[in-house]
Amino acid sequence: MIEAILNFLFPPKCPACKGDVEHNGQWCGTCLNKILNPRQLPLDKELRQLFNGGVECLSDYEDPIKKLIADAKFEKKKHAVKALQYFVEQGIGQEELENIDIVVPVPLHQRKIKERGFNQSMLFFEGTMAKAGIEMWEVLRRVHETRPQFGLKFAERKANIKGAFAIADKAQRHLVKGKRVLLVDDIFTTGATFAECAKVLQAAGAKSIAGLVIASNHR
Ligand SMILES: [Zn+2]
Repeated sequence: MIEAILNFLFPPKCPACKGDVEHNGQWCGTCLNKILNPRQLPLDKELRQLFNGGVECLSDYEDPIKKLIADAKFEKKKHAVKALQYFVEQGIGQEELENIDIVVPVPLHQRKIKERGFNQSMLFFEGTMAKAGIEMWEVLRRVHETRPQFGLKFAERKANIKGAFAIADKAQRHLVKGKRVLLVDDIFTTGATFAECAKVLQAAGAKSIAGLVIASNHR
């Protein structure tokens, strides 16, 4: 009832072309076909060894995805969050999740979570994973605060992020040990963050590690 009234007052629009759609957050078929473009990212030797399940991205990191991610993260715009949740749900095939036991988001520093109020990776992926019946746990935490990776060169990024993560709670090690883990984040840039997270998961005994991000320009 409330949704019906809201939809009457604010008709749902495709986040890309602003054309009419049925539900809030939904994309029209044309835009979804154009923008949703799942591909395996090319990985260097280190990442290949860590991610034996590969790293997949759903789209290039450009508008409207780029703007939606910024709006969701920094402006806390609900329509952007919903549009990305829908995008993730459409982008992940059931067969891709068949070999996954647990989903782990790349963590934010505690101070950032306080500022922002949420971890965006948790927010974008949790609905899809819940529907697929796969548990999502914030197993990792940031040990020390890092400078923003934005604007840093590859070597600087690696140095900046090195040793930044750990298992949040030793009692949670069993969630990872012997498990097939899927690491998720919104953006994959150089992979430095992914590599550091995967090292911790590997050390905690993960059986296999795969990665999934919404957007990347990595080629
Ligand atoms: Zn559209």
